Formats: sequence, C-alpha cells, structure tokens
Amino acid sequence: SPALLEVSDLVKHYPVRSGVLRRIVGTVHAVDGISFSVGVGETLGLVGESGCGKSTVARSILRLVEPTGGTIRLNGLDITHLGKAAMRPSRRSMQIVFQDPFASLNPRMTAGDIVGEPLTVHGIATGRKKSERVAELFEQVGLRPDQMRNYPHQFSGGQRQRICIARALSLDPKLIVCDEPVSALDVSIQAQVINLLIDLQGKHGFSYLFIAHDLAVVAHISHRVAVMYLGRIVEVAEKTELFANPRHPYTQALLASVPLADPRAKRLKPMIDGDVPSPINPPSGCAFHTRCRHAMARCKIERPKLTETGTRHQVACFLNKETGLSV
Ligand code: SF4
Ligand code: MG
Repeated sequence: SPALLEVSDLVKHYPVRSGVLRRIVGTVHAVDGISFSVGVGETLGLVGESGCGKSTVARSILRLVEPTGGTIRLNGLDITHLGKAAMRPSRRSMQIVFQDPFASLNPRMTAGDIVGEPLTVHGIATGRKKSERVAELFEQVGLRPDQMRNYPHQFSGGQRQRICIARALSLDPKLIVCDEPVSALDVSIQAQVINLLIDLQGKHGFSYLFIAHDLAVVAHISHRVAVMYLGRIVEVAEKTELFANPRHPYTQALLASVPLADPRAKRLKPMIDGDVPSPINPPSGCAFHTRCRHAMARCKIERPKLTETGTRHQVACFLNKETGLSV
C-alpha cells in the first residue's frame, strides 16, 4: 500500500541540566534516528519497554514536540517544520488517542461537548448538525446518544476511552496514533476496545500507529510490527513473520516472555539480562550490547543499521548480517 506516513531518521534529544548553573551534563536520546512508514489502511504496531521513546515518536509525529532531526511526511507533504497555519489541514488528518482516558478528558465538559469540540474548532458543524454528528459518533463507538449529556466521571474506563476514540473520529482522520490506548484498562475491557478499533478501521479505512509495551496487545491489531529499544527500531516485519521468525535477540527475548495463548496468564520474567540502560548517554554501538547474550567485540563500537533480511523483514543486528540466519 502507498505510504501515508513516512518517518525518516527521526531524532529527538533533550539536554539534561544539573546544578545551580543548570549546566548540560548529558543528553537524553529519546529517539535516536528511526525510520518507518505506515501505509494507507495499515496498522503498524510500535512496541518496546517503557522509556524506549515510543511516546516521543507519537508526539513528534503529531508535532506536539519539535524533532531534533529527521523528516516526517504525511501524504508526501513534509510537515516536520510547518507553521501553525500551514499545519492546519494535516492536523485534521492526524488524531491521537492517549493512554489515560480520564486525564485526557475535561471533567467539566459533557461527553457530547468533548466529542463535538473538534467540529467547532475546525469550523465544520454547529447547532443541530453538530449534535446529529456527535450522536452518530457515539453510536459508532458503542455508546448511546443519550449519554452525550453525561460527564466523564459517569463513565467506566472503557467507556471513557470510547469517548476519546469518538473525538478522534470526529474529523474523519487518515491516521490515528494510539499511544498505549488500552494499558490503563482492565484486561477484560482491553479486547473490546481493540476490537472496536479494528471494526472502525474496516469501516473507514484509516491507518493506525498503534503503540504498546505489550507484544500480545500489538499482535491482535497490527499488520506489521516495529520493535523499539532505547530510541531505535531494532526489527520490523509483517506480524506473522515477526512472531514466527524473530531475528533480533531483543525481539526473541520479548516474545519468549509473552504467553500468547493466554494473555491473562502471569507473565514470565523477560529472558533478558539486567535492566534497560538509561537513555541518558546510552551504550555505544548496538545499544542492546549490555544485555545481549550474543554480543561480539564490534557490537560495542559499531551501530548496526536496520537491514533488509528477507521479504519486508528488517533487523538491526550484526549476527544476522554475518550469518544470514536467525540467532
Ligand atoms: Fe546482540 Fe550484537 Fe546483535 Fe546487538 S548487534 S543484538 S549486541 S549480536
Ligand atoms: Mg509512553
């Protein structure tokens, strides 16, 4: 499918300051040069442990943070440094659903006003036309139109996330970035919300960038999956290919820790040595070398590039490059 979103060499670094003089003592490598694309009607899952930079990627794409480097293209248009006015049409095409549906809803607004607000802001509908559209959006996400009068606290967590989804849908977006949209919900509710997202995509044909720390959650909704580690993408492949033939040692360890047959089962301890290093001045070379059982001398010095290894399967690891085999 043609690329709707194209991210090239995206970098986001933050200075770390300390002391009375606020001297720069280090750099947070939140996103450290990543490239990926999302096709029309496609869902790309972006998975990795917390702190690996997933949310920074989301916020950079939505232009909520200014990238340090790289380019972001939407429908071929470079939006990386567009000003507010020039950004307006693209802003309409991209919506975000955040992790915490309570924090992202104004407690003093009715659910109907929350969902209808983007229609007002973008001058699309007012009055009766607007309430009809909002009622339709409520039905699309499985809420009753009479619930439009209620306030966020009168809804369950799952229903609040449905309100956020309805608001995201209101402008007929082409891309919805979902940043851990079910992580704050009960496991029993997670599948319902994910199935709703899948149904909506079937009806409207938009694309998702679906971010989660949990491979099991990403597995169900994604067409392709990108695995992130310390600000970098270490592996990308079609979902079935990635799960059947994971090539990066980090992906292999992540997969080994996910009992996919029963997502409610107690998680096994991830088969990775040690903790995630700090993104402040991260390890040299392959950022995973401090935890990798296969690390070689060159892994500490050289940074492996994301390289095509088969049909649409890319991996950033010297081991695969040298042997052509999975580890
Ligand atoms: Fe391990 Fe080296 Fe591959 Fe990095 S490049 S994952 S350290 S073998
Ligand atoms: Mg996050």
